[in-house]
Amino acid sequence: MPRNTERSREIFERAVGYLPGGVNSPVRSFRGVGGDPIVVASGAGSKLRDVDGNEYTDYCGSWGPLILGHAAPDVVSAVQEAASRGLTFGVATEGEATLARLVCEAMPSMQLVRFVNSGTEATMSAIRVARGFTGRSKIVKFDGCYHGHSDGLLVQAGSGVATLSLPDSAGVPESYAAETLLAPYNDLDALTEVFEHYGSEIAAVIVEPVAANMGVVPPLEGFLEGVRTLCDDNGSLLIFDEVITGFRVGLGGFQGAAGITPDLTCLGKVVGGGMPVGAYGGRADVMQLIAPLGPVYQAGTLSGNPLTVAAGIATLTALQRPGFYEELDRKTTALLDGITNVGMRLEVDLVLNSVASLFTVFFGTIAPVDYTTARTADAQRYARFFHALLDRGVYFPPSQFEACFVSAAHTDADIAQTLGAIEESLVESR
Ligand code: PMP
Repeated sequence: MPRNTERSREIFERAVGYLPGGVNSPVRSFRGVGGDPIVVASGAGSKLRDVDGNEYTDYCGSWGPLILGHAAPDVVSAVQEAASRGLTFGVATEGEATLARLVCEAMPSMQLVRFVNSGTEATMSAIRVARGFTGRSKIVKFDGCYHGHSDGLLVQAGSGVATLSLPDSAGVPESYAAETLLAPYNDLDALTEVFEHYGSEIAAVIVEPVAANMGVVPPLEGFLEGVRTLCDDNGSLLIFDEVITGFRVGLGGFQGAAGITPDLTCLGKVVGGGMPVGAYGGRADVMQLIAPLGPVYQAGTLSGNPLTVAAGIATLTALQRPGFYEELDRKTTALLDGITNVGMRLEVDLVLNSVASLFTVFFGTIAPVDYTTARTADAQRYARFFHALLDRGVYFPPSQFEACFVSAAHTDADIAQTLGAIEESLVESR
């Protein structure tokens, strides 16, 4: 069962000489689980193949975009066709208008949308326009939610930063951080207190409607409704960061499922079908403040580029097929039921949090509802579990505090194989 990882190791050692930590995004370095990262050669459907020829059933899915699996044929051919017509023009194209229509039709709260190149850009731009609209400077974020790496949002952020035990990031000026107020996720009393102190200064509250960057932590009943009301009562905008949940929890995002209307929405990942992407949009009276219509400046050389747009259109078109989400949810439920049964049979202390095709296996007895409770999970046990899975050809995200993603390409046979691997790995990682 031990895998040959010689080439992965050799390539990674070379990369370390040129890339900080050998990677272009920190959590890829396996610091959260230890050991050497794999180096990937290719992906197809639900499978990743590393440079040593080992195959893995992938539940990371490039951290969320790959809802159709790796190298989905329709998406790849759309990108190839677009590439043959030119990679970028810096001039308007028809595809941008088409993708914008698909997004706005799926999420009616988005009356206007602007495409950017990453989730980070989407959230920082949404915050700028919220500040421009309200004339206020403070924002509120929730502890353990991650909204990308812009200065004002790296205040005790979760995700990679949490795993690396950096409560904050060096290099963020204190004056920037001071504009961001923190509250615990799922705690309306705490948020009410923040508003009592700063209400008239708060431009916006930004929230992951399902927190997925401290592991998956769903909103408690009434939480998001309460956030909406507090924003309304104080003249603050509500920004839903649906970078993960957008087009994952149904076509209408979590806002559609929950029936809550944010003022602004941030998207990324699935909407670009695996190409670099972000998008932000919302109320027309707010979005009309963006240049060239209004005084809030935001721009991008490669924003709305033809390859991203082609991948996005092909992906959203596939998601519109009748029964798409039902089938994805059916497979996810089979996997989650299986994990629950195995966990009970082996008497393992684990909590399974999930929403649609997103889930996290937390090791512990406390059901996480916020960052503090999520942090009680046994990350060392997760690390052992992760490596045991890897040895059995299953790739989970290399951190306890991340979401697993099921894709449409996962087959019933994949799920059965994964459950077998999970059972053995739970035993081995005791
Ligand atoms: N918001 C959320 C909810 C995210 O999960 C992420 C990234 N995982 C981001 C924003 C930032 O997106 P990107 O990595 O594309 O900058």
